[in-house]
Amino acid sequence: MTQLMAGKRGLIMGLANDKSIAWGIAKACAEQGAELAYSFQGEALKKRVVPLAAQTGSDIVIPCDVGEGASIDAMFAELATHWDTLDFVVHAIGFSDKSELRGRYIDTSLDNFLMTMNISVYSFTAVMQRAEKMMTNGGSALTLTYYGAEKVMPHYNVMGLAKAALESSVQYLAEDLGRDGIRVNAISAGTIKTLAASGIGDFRYILKWNEYNSPLRRTVTTDEVGASAMYLLSDLSSAVTGTIHHVDAGYHVVGMKNVDAPDM
Ligand code: NAD
Repeated sequence: MTQLMAGKRGLIMGLANDKSIAWGIAKACAEQGAELAYSFQGEALKKRVVPLAAQTGSDIVIPCDVGEGASIDAMFAELATHWDTLDFVVHAIGFSDKSELRGRYIDTSLDNFLMTMNISVYSFTAVMQRAEKMMTNGGSALTLTYYGAEKVMPHYNVMGLAKAALESSVQYLAEDLGRDGIRVNAISAGTIKTLAASGIGDFRYILKWNEYNSPLRRTVTTDEVGASAMYLLSDLSSAVTGTIHHVDAGYHVVGMKNVDAPDM
């Protein structure tokens, strides 16, 4: 069978280490024949990202702090020295002050509210403003969201609001970019133990709860998110845009605790 991503060039944003959701997606893209470039945040992550990028045959690894427009501009300027065009973008970035990913939402500070919205929501729009200019043949953009956008989840707090806004921005971006043949979708991933997730209060409890109560009675892996991303990033989903695709072992359809679930 022909590789799904053969001939496509994509930018992977949000790779921190081999536990990252971005890594599950990047590996799947490379296996399906895509050519990849990576962005990373801060010098400390560079030493992790460079060898991972090399495993997927890429030596295009560019710094970018999405909190600063100038940094996003510089990243795209450097990317343009390697490639004339871009076919897909993966935005796997989110951040909020750990001290506010516990306790009550109502105690959120204005500073952290604005910072969380900037890094976790606006950055996707800011990236697509620049990416649009390189996606001259159309293409696909994918971001990562979480069920905490739809329902209240313990400790998720301001990230829940950020994910709700991110999901709405997927729809608005889909409309704006659709006329250029650029599709915009999100995967709502189940809980996975990553660097970002371990900042959330009682994360182990949340992970177990999902395992006991999802229809598939388990959590999901980054490889499974990567496999589902192949549908949304490739031409298999050529008529799909503006969607939130759940890859969560079915957890989002459940109304209450499974009667067989162990007490926690
Ligand atoms: P991760 O820690 O591996 O990735 C988060 C990435 O965000 C890191 O690479 C980090 O460098 C990057 N980042 C944060 N602030 C940045 C900034 N200012 N500029 C540039 N990059 C920045 O964790 P992950 O779980 O793979 O997270 C990826 C995405 O998946 C996030 O949007 C997260 O909310 C989402 N998600 C995670 C889960 C989960 O359970 N792990 C579930 C659903 C959705």
